[in-house]
Amino acid sequence: MNKNKSGSSLRSSLPPVDRLLKSPALAALVTAHGRAPVVEAVRAALENLRAEISAGGSPDVSDASVAALAAAVLERAMTPTLRPVFNLTGTVLHTNLGRAPLPQEALDAIASVARGASSLEYDLATGKRGDRDTHLDSLLAKLTGAEAATVVNNNAAAVLLVLNTLAQRKEVIVSRGELIEIGGAFRMPDIMARAGAKLREVGTTNRTHEKDYRDAINERTAALMSVHTSNYAVQGFTASVDEAEIAAIAHQKDLAFICDLGAGALVDFRAYGLPYEPTVADTIRAGADIVTFSGDKLLGGPQAGLIAGRRDLIDKIKRNPLKRALRCDKMTIAALECVLRLHLDPDRLAQRLPALALLTRKQSDIRAQAERLAMLMRQRLSQYADISVEDCMSQIGSGSLPVETLPSAALVLRPIHGRKSSGAWVNAVSAAFRKLPVPVVGRIEKNAYVMDLRCLADEELFSSQLNVLSLEGGA
Ligand SMILES: *Cc1c(COP(=O)(O)O)cnc(C)c1O
Repeated sequence: MNKNKSGSSLRSSLPPVDRLLKSPALAALVTAHGRAPVVEAVRAALENLRAEISAGGSPDVSDASVAALAAAVLERAMTPTLRPVFNLTGTVLHTNLGRAPLPQEALDAIASVARGASSLEYDLATGKRGDRDTHLDSLLAKLTGAEAATVVNNNAAAVLLVLNTLAQRKEVIVSRGELIEIGGAFRMPDIMARAGAKLREVGTTNRTHEKDYRDAINERTAALMSVHTSNYAVQGFTASVDEAEIAAIAHQKDLAFICDLGAGALVDFRAYGLPYEPTVADTIRAGADIVTFSGDKLLGGPQAGLIAGRRDLIDKIKRNPLKRALRCDKMTIAALECVLRLHLDPDRLAQRLPALALLTRKQSDIRAQAERLAMLMRQRLSQYADISVEDCMSQIGSGSLPVETLPSAALVLRPIHGRKSSGAWVNAVSAAFRKLPVPVVGRIEKNAYVMDLRCLADEELFSSQLNVLSLEGGA
């Protein structure tokens, strides 16, 4: 109907903001969200239309149409960018997707302290000022065998704080085989430099011997350090010195032995049918003076960096002014306290701790779920994609147990009738799943779209969304 109108007359027939705001659709949005965001959305919609007209287009400029555009702009603006997704990547503790899911008790604990005042740094027995670490240190001591413990924002912060406290302007001896980089931003040599410590590399990438550590010790040495090689394995012709031996070398010279454990298992994972991962208690027992580890990897809790070890060293670490800059908040402490308490009962941990429940999920269970969903998806999508159930391997993630994988099952989408798949096809499918109300993040493998179902807890929500999945576009 606008075909005959010139650009300028079309522009002048755009409805005024005030009139649009009185339209029933937008009036309801003003009530829901307030006037300012709706006005902003209307202006943005009008701006888009003017641009379209200038470019030679002739859009529908009726009140109803412009109001609908504004409503769409508003919806996009009101959708949080940080929101839940389905992690079907096959990597359980996925750093980019927020790592460990928390147990309900931890969520309740977060809400209860976030809602109002709490005893965060207040000793209820004496009525005096308290220390936020007291909520965790005795639990950590019990679970790790360490004399004392403290907690900061994440494990990178823990390593920074430990090195800055114990080794500023001094040397720390580390094997060349352990100079790790994790996710680009965490590189041991860089953290060491920022902490003001001097890295003294010993050995070679694949082989380091006791003598290498011994020969490197001098009057500037502050500590010997071992770093758990979280996201890779050195295999083949290798030699490394085990922790008890490094500890003995350090202690002969009255030096500290620091161990960055990374994943930080508090229980023996073999008890749940998982591969062995050194526990914090094992490492303390082997003679580590300080152990650092993450809260949201194998521990299954919130993002945090835990530091456990000798009381005199922990006291020193807590007195470092950087501790204040790196400390964690009450919500983290509430969740962590709860997750640590669950670890006191290892027998029921696999049922009560979601991260461990996901890691121990049986392949037969995952496959049965995949079969159910494949049937449903075939009803909806068989004209767009071939849907099959295939065995796959999940990864633990977060650099934990890098070479170990867990047998799992996946829904795999390929083009119908054996048509040749292409990068464009599979990218379009992947984009369609990411557009769902709760976005689905799968993975692309050899031009197929793969959804590893190990971490699919809410099957009902997943299947209810299939009704709005649109593969028509590119796929
Ligand atoms: C994961 C990891 C870190 C970093 O821990 P964040 O909690 O992500 O800060 C440091 N060292 C090792 C060995 C790790 O595995």
